[in-house]
Amino acid sequence: MQLTRKLTFFIAIAVWSVLGVVACLRIAEERSLYRDDLRRDHEVLGHALAAAVSEAWRVSGRDVARDVVAHATSADSPVSVRWLDADVLRAEPGLAASVADELKAGVMVHTLFENSTEPQLISLVPLRPGKDAPFLELRESLSSENRYLGRTLSHTVVATLAVGAVCTALAFLLGTWMVGRPVRALRDKARRVGTGDLTVPVVLTQRDELGDLAREMNHMSDALARSRAEREAANAERIRALSQLRHAERLATVGRLAAGVAHELGTPLHVIEGHTKLLDRGEAESEEETRESLQTILRQTARMTHIVRQLLDFARARTPHKTPVDLRAIAEEATSMLTALAAQRDVNVQVEGEGCVVHADESQMLQVATNLLKNAIDASSPGQRVTLEVSTAHADDGPRGVLRVVDQGSGIDPEAREHLFEPFFTTKDVGRGTGLGLAVSHGIVLDHGGAISVDCPPRGGSVFEVQLPQEAQ
Ligand code: ADP
Repeated sequence: MQLTRKLTFFIAIAVWSVLGVVACLRIAEERSLYRDDLRRDHEVLGHALAAAVSEAWRVSGRDVARDVVAHATSADSPVSVRWLDADVLRAEPGLAASVADELKAGVMVHTLFENSTEPQLISLVPLRPGKDAPFLELRESLSSENRYLGRTLSHTVVATLAVGAVCTALAFLLGTWMVGRPVRALRDKARRVGTGDLTVPVVLTQRDELGDLAREMNHMSDALARSRAEREAANAERIRALSQLRHAERLATVGRLAAGVAHELGTPLHVIEGHTKLLDRGEAESEEETRESLQTILRQTARMTHIVRQLLDFARARTPHKTPVDLRAIAEEATSMLTALAAQRDVNVQVEGEGCVVHADESQMLQVATNLLKNAIDASSPGQRVTLEVSTAHADDGPRGVLRVVDQGSGIDPEAREHLFEPFFTTKDVGRGTGLGLAVSHGIVLDHGGAISVDCPPRGGSVFEVQLPQEAQ
């Protein structure tokens, strides 16, 4: 039930109850006043009549006195008068003994007969004091009282209904105006604040608790709007700074890439240029020297081709041709491909773990495994061991095949670790590394929906871990 209706309901109940009690009290009061009036009338009439009858009795005798009484009642008079002898009193039913005693003492007695079909007021007036003295009986019907009370009752009911209806309507109107309307406005404002609209204030001019609440809500939403504006400004500033930073980073990467390409291709180009000039000027002293120059040119060209291929690998949008591939088989093939390099460096390479099938492009996986293994062998000292561990991990999005390449080599310092997967980042001597192996591997693994990470355990060496989804995605 709405607040206004509840208020109106309870006020109406209170008003109607009070009005009802007041009406009942008024009816009772009117009844008692009416009966007092009736008694007073009987007393005046009874005393006057008793005096007249007593005088007639004294002057003209008892029979004349009885005649006077007989003629005292007219047809249209509401009060009927009777002469009653003392013995009648004894036979009259319903007269209490105390009444008889009062009459003997010469006192007028009023009695109400309410249980008969027509309620009546009976007043008994002794004509003279004494045990056997006669008395007058004044009898009046109370039907006029009922009519009077009926009228009073209907007036009271009409007045009560009118006052009650006016009070109820007033309570409803005031409740709607002073409580319902402001509460609705506050509720709408709270809803707007809830949806993030802080613009429209709640307008309540009343100077009471609800008005105070409205003003506080307006202050609150102003404060919220201010802090939101400040937050948005700070956010915009942060985004601007971030995009500047990204722009600077992009420029740095492009610079590094260009420098890398220039550096990597510059050296073989110089060598080729030198030998070509030598041959062009005919400065080769023997056929042997000419052949050696040509072979150097071929080697350098092959090196440049290799670099360009790697660059293309890095730059090309790769669409892996995925089939079920056993990671252990990949690890073994990479090991056999690099057996000569490992033997040359005196590094012991081992493959561990059960077979683990992933959904991947086989040649690209082989490329990743050989890149990681070659780096591990390069970082190892003679006599050290490199282990390729194959296992299964359970991630949130399903099971994953894991290939870990663990070496006991030099490890990677934290600063180098930040740039490890960037193209052309290398710590190797000129001619030994291009800085593209990890960048290419990183791209391949991401294309497969996997992840590649590096860790340098405190015991030394590095651990490169590749995770690949086992199920087709
Ligand atoms: P490259 O081998 O041609 O230098 P990579 O992208 O394969 O290019 O590697 C980048 C660099 O990462 C390497 O020069 C080396 O400094 C570092 N690195 C990679 N693997 C290892 C490893 N297992 N141990 C130590 N350093 C490594």
